[in-house]
Amino acid sequence: MKISAPRGTFDILPEEALRWRWLEAAIRRVFDYYGYQEIRTPVFEHTELFQRGIGETTDIVEKEMYTFNDKGGRSLTLRPEGTAPVVRSYVEHKLYSKGGITKLFYMGPMFRQERPQAGRFRQFHQFGVELLGTESPLADAEVITVAVELYKELGLTDLEVLVNSIGCPACRKKYQEDLFSRLSSLQELCESCLRRLEKNPMRILDCKNPRCRELTKDVPAVTDYLCPACRDHLEKTLSFLDKAGIDYRLEPRLVRGFDYYTRTVFEVINAGLGAQNAVCGGGRYDHLVEEIGGPPMPGVGFASGMERLILTLEQQGKFAGFSSAPQVAFAVLDETLAADGFALATRLRREGLTVEACLEVKSLKAQMRAAGKLQAKFVVILGEDEWKDGQVSVRRMADGEQWRVDREEVCRFIKDLLDRDSSGREQERGSFS
Ligand SMILES: [Zn+2]
Ligand SMILES: [Zn+2]
Repeated sequence: MKISAPRGTFDILPEEALRWRWLEAAIRRVFDYYGYQEIRTPVFEHTELFQRGIGETTDIVEKEMYTFNDKGGRSLTLRPEGTAPVVRSYVEHKLYSKGGITKLFYMGPMFRQERPQAGRFRQFHQFGVELLGTESPLADAEVITVAVELYKELGLTDLEVLVNSIGCPACRKKYQEDLFSRLSSLQELCESCLRRLEKNPMRILDCKNPRCRELTKDVPAVTDYLCPACRDHLEKTLSFLDKAGIDYRLEPRLVRGFDYYTRTVFEVINAGLGAQNAVCGGGRYDHLVEEIGGPPMPGVGFASGMERLILTLEQQGKFAGFSSAPQVAFAVLDETLAADGFALATRLRREGLTVEACLEVKSLKAQMRAAGKLQAKFVVILGEDEWKDGQVSVRRMADGEQWRVDREEVCRFIKDLLDRDSSGREQERGSFS
């Protein structure tokens, strides 16, 4: 029986993996500029972490988690998002005990059992940042800014930043009550909205159903209900963004799907991606650390899906010149030279060249064809007579020009040619840091 990858998962094949490596390197580079340190947490956690951290009434916890009992009868869940695990680790290892601000980022696979649809996967990849330990609106502004600057660095265009404040539990309570009394008579709301009405009416504003949107188009904005402290926090956050030259739009309907957000919520959207167009979402979560068993400690962060980023960058032609072609391929013309060819290839690799060694001694013609397929820039040819004279041939594949080179000099010789090659734009993979 043929076994395929499970539904909703996919393999990242070598050509595609080059793109992922480029993206991951760019993300790490930008987070370095901003002083975020990487944290790696397990892919599964105690189920309770997500129930407490994300909220029992969210779609994720209600319907989408991969939850299983291990052999000891413990309920474990494959992580559906990155914030709760990072906060769990922050609390467990008392990263707050040094005092001050902690800035973390993560990157890796997440798991949700969603209905398969275009652009949605059950194993998908996210990266994100968590800035813990300060209530300052400067932190909100920084987290929004690092997201925007990262997308700029990647070369993404047509981006729009949406910002809103959903207030604190105190001011939000009144808003939820008013929403409930306005909407509770509306039986035409969709099924999920009727459920949200009981548990978290504000999330009805997030519904993508056109009829729900029409029914709620005249409800008051949450920003009209903000208490003075929440209003001040929003105004300061926006003024810091203004000053830093970060464009945004205040979007009063933006609420985000997690229960843990307080005050600032934001999304970066891409006009080209259709209905599912958010490239990242985030916000402030001033009670999550406590919820997970830590001391009262404010935080703010964002998460970004990587599949959509790869797709958008592909559409924008970002990866057109990407190649895993080796700089040098070897052609060995006689079985007796196989070991010498292998040893010379190994030396060139030690000197920092990307080299495909000759693993099967065949005719010159067959080996040149293979080197052509690999798109190698140069082929080092080991023939019996030349080798006796201490020499090899080096052929430049672009124009077929060929030199006899002392075998001790071959590395220097190829490096010089590579340096001089004016058309030789730096290989993309050379820029991975
Ligand atoms: Zn408030
Ligand atoms: Zn709805």
